[in-house]
Amino acid sequence: MDMEKKIAETIKKYKLIKKKDKVVVALSGGKDSTSVLYILNKLGYNVEGLMIDLYLGEWSEIHKRNMKKFCDGIGVPLMIVDLKKELGQGICFIKAVLKQKKGLTGCSVCGTVKRWILNKWARKLKGDVLVTGHNLDDETQNVLMNFLKGNVILGANSSPATGGEINKDSNGNHGKFVQRVKPLFFVPEGEIRKYAEAKKFEIMYERCPCAFGTYRVDTRAWMDSLGLTDGAKKKIVENFQKIIPKLKKQQNRELVICEGCGEPSTGKICNACKIFECL
Ligand code: AMP
Ligand code: ZN
Repeated sequence: MDMEKKIAETIKKYKLIKKKDKVVVALSGGKDSTSVLYILNKLGYNVEGLMIDLYLGEWSEIHKRNMKKFCDGIGVPLMIVDLKKELGQGICFIKAVLKQKKGLTGCSVCGTVKRWILNKWARKLKGDVLVTGHNLDDETQNVLMNFLKGNVILGANSSPATGGEINKDSNGNHGKFVQRVKPLFFVPEGEIRKYAEAKKFEIMYERCPCAFGTYRVDTRAWMDSLGLTDGAKKKIVENFQKIIPKLKKQQNRELVICEGCGEPSTGKICNACKIFECL
């Protein structure tokens, strides 16, 4: 089945997006988010791109330039959020401070900051859903990483859609947590690369310059060395979906409003605020 059909099928099966929804796509400038934005626009959804300028030197500049041209070319609005205007610093500084003050390394700090900004801005843009470009390989890595950490419960929220009921208040109005959806959940990375190359998208394929020596990178290398087929990855991810309801029960997570920033949180103070306190 071709990739466009696969995406349409995932959207239908998991009820990810409604035709009248305002669809905000988190755009990194990579092949995954660029392809998903392109396809959702082609399928007739009301799409807008949302990109965070992380200030990663030339890497960010090229991605920004590419995405401005790309969105312009297909008539999709693009919002670029400036990290320095939001938080006063670029991501390298933030990561360096957190490493020094809390010993935090890897991609977790960047991930927390990105999620916080994307949710806030998707809401500002009046998005009904926030789409990310996470693919089958990312999801397989999540399952394996959580297993290797001995903490399978961490995967309780690894679904094509997260957010759900807490997205709306009792009157059906939008809440603080914009529903996050992953239409590429079952699409292998290799297929997305082939699609982007065949479409001749003017994008950069290099991975993030900061993502080296991290647990995810090591897990990806290990997964590659196993030579898992796309079918095997799909089986891992699909079977994992079956135990998610059980994990959710055990996790018993309740979202509240962070006392620091007013954004959704699992504790009194959200993880992003714990980062901001150090800056
Ligand atoms: P990553 O965390 O870099 O693997 O990216 C996963 C997904 O997060 C991408 O497919 C995008 O949808 C989103 N994303 C990553 N970086 C950015 C960014 N700088 N701005 C907006 N969205 C992003
Ligand atoms: Zn907070």
